[in-house]
Parts: sequence; C-alpha cells; structure tokens
Amino acid sequence: MRHNTILFVLLMSVSFTAFSQNTNMITHRGAWKNTEAPQNSIASLRAAADQKAWGSEFDIHLTKDNILVVNHDRDFYGIDIATSTYEELLAKKHPNGENIPTAKEYLTEGKKHADLTLIYELKTSSQGEERTLESARKSMELVKELGLFDQTEFIAFSYAACLEFKKLDKDAKVHYLNGDKSPKEIKEAGLSGIDYNQQVFKDNPSWIREAKENGLATNVWTVNEEKDMRYFIKEGVDYITTDEPERLSRILKEGE
Ligand code: MG
Repeated sequence: MRHNTILFVLLMSVSFTAFSQNTNMITHRGAWKNTEAPQNSIASLRAAADQKAWGSEFDIHLTKDNILVVNHDRDFYGIDIATSTYEELLAKKHPNGENIPTAKEYLTEGKKHADLTLIYELKTSSQGEERTLESARKSMELVKELGLFDQTEFIAFSYAACLEFKKLDKDAKVHYLNGDKSPKEIKEAGLSGIDYNQQVFKDNPSWIREAKENGLATNVWTVNEEKDMRYFIKEGVDYITTDEPERLSRILKEGE
C-alpha cells in the first residue's frame, strides 16, 4: 500500500510537470487594447491588476524640469516631453480625462496592487546619455522613496542605463531590451535578464535555454498572436509581454 502511495505521488508530480507551464503574463503599457483605458494611463494599470497580470509594463520619460512622467512616445499629444516642463504637459489630457501621470502617481497606484510587478521601462532621452543616466538615478531614488524596490523591475534599451541601475543597487532587477547582446554578455555584465523582441528569440533559438543556464530571466515582447504565445510558452520563456492579456490569460489557464 505504502509503495502504491509513493508511486501515485510520483506519477502525480510527473503529470503536474508535464502539464504545468511557468510562463507569466506582463501587460504592455497596461491593459488598454480591449478596455476603455488609454495606454500608460493609471486606468490601464488598474485594468492590468483587475486581469490578474503577473506584471504591468509602462514607459518613463524625464521632463525639462526633472519630473518623471509616464508615456510611450517622446511627445504627449504633440507636446515634446524632454524639452517641456511638467506644467506645460498639463495643456493636454488623455481621452479619459487623466493628465499625463507622473511616475510618482503611477507607482503610488501600483503600490495598491501588491501582487502586480511593476515593469519600469526607462526611455532613452533625446537630450543625450547624461540625461538618460540622470533619469535612471532619479528613478531609483523615487522607487526606493515609495518603498517599491521589491515590487519593481527595470528595463531599458539603453545599455548604459541598465548598467547604471545595477551600479546604483546591485540587487536591482534589470533587464536589457535592445536584443543585440547574447545571454553570456548579459550575464558577464551582471544584469538580471533579457527582454527581447520575439524576432530576436526566433533568430537566436538557443538564447532562451542559454539564458536559463546562466540564471537569467527571459521576457519576450510584444506577443499578440495565439500561435506565437503558444510557441514561447513551449519554449519555456519566463514572461510574455502582450497587448492582448485576455487572449494570453485564456491560453495560460489551459495549462493549470
Ligand atoms: Mg515600453
């Protein structure tokens, strides 16, 4: 009987491994595509939390007068962010009535959703590398001031910014976006992971495995088609960043 019990437990754990998947969902610029919320608005962050995403990504720029704000493009409805003051940006609003969120407002909302990891993308400044690095320093300061260091992971296309985040705090989780460095290079630089365009992973089919062997996290963007979602789940990628969280959620639930 006892042996049967052990055998049963073994079989159960084998089948659990076979059917479970370890891929988590990150919403890209919040959950906006199938909701009323504008991209990178506080409403989109709330919608991501409502959908039980593992994490939610957002984009950060620094204004001329040193306020970190959340927006994807370099302009907020036509007003250039890097060369404008925060006050000047208030001339426009999102269609839902929100002002451009400051990083502080956005993160403060994020803190209310403690199960949601905040994927903080630092945008490269049009005003030069020093300005990008200044943005990184101000970002780290803000995240710590709000007590959000453990809930936040940093991502950037700027390699210099990634290295700066790690220099500021060796325990920071920092993932590189630009796709031009191998897992080995990222490991040697001391970064936490690779967060690459899906085409980069398809062109370098060994990189997910190599990243894992080097203890690096793997995140792929921006995966919106069902066949691509299934491909990356099968490849064992850690995180999929998507504009279609409802679709990915449904697929991930099949594996539960
Ligand atoms: Mg982004």
